[in-house]
Amino acid sequence: MVCLNMEINRYHFPGYFLRPSSSGEWSHLIGGDCKLPGAIFPGSNKALIQIASLDLTDSRLSDLGLSTDVLPLLYGGACAAGEGRLCYSVKGGSIQILEYQEGAVYDDFPYSNYPVAFEGVSASLHLLTAQEQAVFTQLNCCSDDDWFELTQVKHQDMSLPQHMVGGEPYLIGGVENASVCPTCAQPMALLATGGNAAYVDSRGFLGNDFVQLVYEFCLKCSTVVQNIYSD
Ligand SMILES: [Zn+2]
Repeated sequence: MVCLNMEINRYHFPGYFLRPSSSGEWSHLIGGDCKLPGAIFPGSNKALIQIASLDLTDSRLSDLGLSTDVLPLLYGGACAAGEGRLCYSVKGGSIQILEYQEGAVYDDFPYSNYPVAFEGVSASLHLLTAQEQAVFTQLNCCSDDDWFELTQVKHQDMSLPQHMVGGEPYLIGGVENASVCPTCAQPMALLATGGNAAYVDSRGFLGNDFVQLVYEFCLKCSTVVQNIYSD
C-alpha cells in the first residue's frame, strides 16, 4: 500500500468517532429517516438510506460552512447506486442528486429484505486521541510487508470500517488523492466514513463488515461525494 502526498485540505478538521450515545449535547444520529426533500433514488420511489445525520449546529463542524442545520450521509442501498458513487448537495434544506450509478433496484442487495430505512440511534462525536489518529495514519501508510501484521493482528479493531467524521480514517480501499468536486472542480476534503454497524439492527447497513463508505465534501460549494470500497 502506497501513501500518496495528500492534498492540503484533504484532512480538513480533527477526527471523531461517531458512536451511539444517549447523553449527547447535539442531535447526531446513526441511521434514521432522512427527512429532507429529495433524498430519493432518481428514477425510482425508493428513499436513499441514511447511515448517519450530522448536526451542523455542533460548533465542532461549523467549518463545513453549510447553510443547513443537518447533513445526512446517504447511501444508495438496494438501488444500483449502492454499488457505486453517489453525489449530492444539501442546499436550502433539500437534497439534490447530482450523480448516481444507473441501474436496477435489487431484491437481494446488499442482502435479502434490505430495510427501506434504519432505526435512528442517538450518537455523539468522540475526538480521536493523538495515539488513535497515529494508528490510522500508520495503517494507511504501511508497507505491503507490514500490512497483514498491522491490520489483522496488532490493530485488528482499528482496521474495521466504522463511522467516523473528519480526521484521517483508515481507508480500506487504499489512500487515493482527493476527488475533484464534480460541481466546481475543487479538490474535496475527507468528510466521514461509514461502516456496517447499525447498532439496533444487527443486519447492518452494508451486509459486510469489510465494506466502507467514504464521504468527501467540497468546502466551496457543499457537494458531497460518496464512494464505496471493500478490502
Ligand atoms: Zn464544489
